[in-house]
Amino acid sequence: MKIAVMALSGGMDSTSLLLRLLREGNTVYTIGFNYGQKHIVELSRAQDNIDYLSENGYKISHNVVDLSSLMSMFTGSLTSNEDVPKGHYEEQQMKSTVVPNRNAIFSSMIYGYALSLSKQFECNVSISLGVHSGDHAIYPDCRPEFYQSLNEAFEKGNWDSENVNLDLPYIDGDKESILRDAIVSCEHLGLDFDTIFANTNTSYDPDEQGRSSGKTGSDIERILAFHAIGRKDPVIYQQDWQQVLDHALSVEKEYMDKIYREKLTELQYQVTRNSATERAFTGIYDKHFVKGNYYCICCNHLLFSSQSKYNSGCGWPAFHSESVDANIARITDNSHGMVRIEVKCSKCDAHLGHVFEDGPKEYGGERYCINSAALIFKEE
Ligand SMILES: [Zn+2]
Repeated sequence: MKIAVMALSGGMDSTSLLLRLLREGNTVYTIGFNYGQKHIVELSRAQDNIDYLSENGYKISHNVVDLSSLMSMFTGSLTSNEDVPKGHYEEQQMKSTVVPNRNAIFSSMIYGYALSLSKQFECNVSISLGVHSGDHAIYPDCRPEFYQSLNEAFEKGNWDSENVNLDLPYIDGDKESILRDAIVSCEHLGLDFDTIFANTNTSYDPDEQGRSSGKTGSDIERILAFHAIGRKDPVIYQQDWQQVLDHALSVEKEYMDKIYREKLTELQYQVTRNSATERAFTGIYDKHFVKGNYYCICCNHLLFSSQSKYNSGCGWPAFHSESVDANIARITDNSHGMVRIEVKCSKCDAHLGHVFEDGPKEYGGERYCINSAALIFKEE
C-alpha cells in the first residue's frame, strides 16, 4: 500500500496535489487547518471536494484540526482585523499576509500523523507538499530549503523517521504547470476539472457568500494561471470573469512595467515596451557575428541563434529564421503609412522588430529585422 499524507487547504495547489496523489495510486490522508483565517470558506470547499471524490469512488480520510484559539492571536492580515492588501502578489505590502511560523506548525502535525500511520500500517509514508518555485520571497516558510531543514530536525527528533519521506512533486513548477497537471489528473481519474476547481478558494477576502473580489494578490495570481491555460476560472467572483481577468491583466502589466523601468535602459524600454525603433547602424548587435544565442532582453526567452544571423546591410541585426521553440508572435502593423509584420516575444510581448520578405531564399526568404536593444547575446 502506498500512503501519502498532505495538508488540504482548499486552495489550488493542494487540490491539484491531492488529484496527483490519487492518480499515482496512493491512499491519501489529508488534514485541513482552521487557524482563524478570514477565508475559512476554503475548508468547506475542501470538504465539498472530499464529498465529490467520495461520490466518484475515491475515499479520502480527511480531518480538520482546530488551531483557531491559538493562531487567532497571531499577527498578520489573514487572522486579525487588519485589512488584506490588494495589488500584485509579489509586492512588499503582501508581507502582511504572512502568518508567523504557520508552515512549521502545520508540518509538525503532519509529520506526527505520518509517523503514526507508518506504525499503524507498518509501511513507508510520504508527506507530500505542494510547494513550488513560483512561491514568493515574502513567504519564507514556503522555501524548499526551509522544508529540508525542518525535515532534518524531525528526523533527528523521532524514532523510525526513516519510514517517512518528503515528496515535493511541484518543486520545479508554477501555478500554471500545477493546473495543467490537474487537468491530466482529472482526465486520468474521470473527474470534472470545473467541478473540482469551483470547490476551491484562493482569495484572502471572500465576501459573506464566499465570492472573491479577484483583487488580492493571491486572486490575481490564480486568475492569471487560469488565463495562461486558456480556461475560465469556474470559481464564482463578485464580478464576471472578463472583468476580473481584465483587472488582473492590468495589475500584472503595471507591475511588470515597473520591473522593466528598473531593469532596462531608456532605449531598451522604449523599443520593447513602446515599439520604438533604434536608429539604423547604431545597435550593438548590427555587425556582431560571434557564435552564441540571442535572448529577449525583457524575459530571457531564447529567440535566435547566431547560425541564422547574416549581414543584410540594412542597419539592424538580421536573422533568416527564429529558434525552434521561440514561437515569435506576428502582428500586422499599419503604422507610418505602411503595412508591415511586427514581431513580438511570445512570452512577454516585447516588441522586437519586423519581418520582411527579402531574406535569403535558401532559408525560406524571410528577414527578421530586429532591434539590438531588444536582445541580449550570450556566447556559446
Ligand atoms: Zn520576452
